[in-house]
Amino acid sequence: MGVLYDKLMADFDTIHNTNGISGERLAKRLDALSEIGLTEENGSHRPGFSDEEKAAKNLVAVWMREAGLEVREDGAGNVFGRLAGKQDHLPAIVSGSHIDTVPNGGHFDGVLGVLVALEVADAWKQTGYQPEKPYEIAIFTDEEGSRFNGGLHGSEAVVGKGDLNEKLKQVDYDGKTFEQVLEGIGLTVDGYTTAERDADEIEMFVETHIEQGKRLEQQGLPCGIVTGIAGPCWMELTFTGEAGHAGNTPMNDRKDALSAASAFVAEVPKLPGTVSDSAVATIGKLDVHPNGVNVIPGSVSLYVDIRDIYAESRDALVDKVLKLAKQTAASRDVQVEHMEKMRVAPVPIDEQKQDLLAESFVEKNMEPYKLPSGAGHDAMIIGDKWPVAMLFTQSKNGTSHNPAEWSDLNDCVQTVHVLKNFLEKVQK
Ligand SMILES: [Zn+2]
Repeated sequence: MGVLYDKLMADFDTIHNTNGISGERLAKRLDALSEIGLTEENGSHRPGFSDEEKAAKNLVAVWMREAGLEVREDGAGNVFGRLAGKQDHLPAIVSGSHIDTVPNGGHFDGVLGVLVALEVADAWKQTGYQPEKPYEIAIFTDEEGSRFNGGLHGSEAVVGKGDLNEKLKQVDYDGKTFEQVLEGIGLTVDGYTTAERDADEIEMFVETHIEQGKRLEQQGLPCGIVTGIAGPCWMELTFTGEAGHAGNTPMNDRKDALSAASAFVAEVPKLPGTVSDSAVATIGKLDVHPNGVNVIPGSVSLYVDIRDIYAESRDALVDKVLKLAKQTAASRDVQVEHMEKMRVAPVPIDEQKQDLLAESFVEKNMEPYKLPSGAGHDAMIIGDKWPVAMLFTQSKNGTSHNPAEWSDLNDCVQTVHVLKNFLEKVQK
């Protein structure tokens, strides 16, 4: 076993090895997958549609078969492992995530969601439990989007979402088209379009993912219930004043675009809390023109990233941000224009599913802590067609997309216990 296994097992408390669930097995699998695409910095490099992603899927497929699942790959490269239900004609309960990573990413993002879903199947095999409904473990292709600057290609194919013509226009980091990339791993464009699944094949999807934030760590909790997946809105705002000489223009005769933009930037953090507890707004990119030491800034372009798990409050926040921009510009005698760059619908998670998950937490003597997801996930796409639920496992320091990404094995295994309990509950 490798370094990751030893590190995971160092603090593992075997008290969690109950009901057929094994921390050692989970650690071994996390370790084995970490070896595929391992970087010099001990990170993970498995871009979507790469040989590494494919090798990782093939390895999980071996484990799926060992757990008694029937494995198939669809035309988008998504892998489904299916455990027959006692009433196998019923729609399937599906759990899983992705196995690709960003360049030099971590060993938990995506992978954990696939492996905890598989650990439940192994635990069932161990204890001789067969679910009433068929159970499927999904590995969605290319969630991260590090190849084409836009991911979720696997889950989009399953939902039948996403513009194929737009996809075909994409060129990856090696200059290869979408079609060439598919062909590179034995897939075809025609096959890709056959990956869509009928609504009545699936009852619901539950995804486990690392939190990629610090809330659970701050609460000292192993895992939590996701209340919704935030949909981002990106607004580009341009404040336009008048460039002028820093020495010759008196202070009372300036139209300083940066000064106005700064006043706006300073006020924005006060707005999200006025619409909801989960809303956020971020300004992370500014371009100042002409950007000279001795020149009064003539124009400033900036991006505001606005998110919430509810469309209504997110859109209300967008309106408030724009109103603030106009007021600030007017009071400083500059102009402001805006351009909407993106507005993705948030995916709220059904309250009934959250309550059911909460029951599982209580039955496992854990606090049913609820938190929003700021980042997008496969569940966001799947949620377009089927009901979804989501679990977060604690992330150390909230670090993600980085070799330092870490989740404690005790927390991972406790997440399996909750997931297993939940998956047994939804059989009724
Ligand atoms: Zn992920």
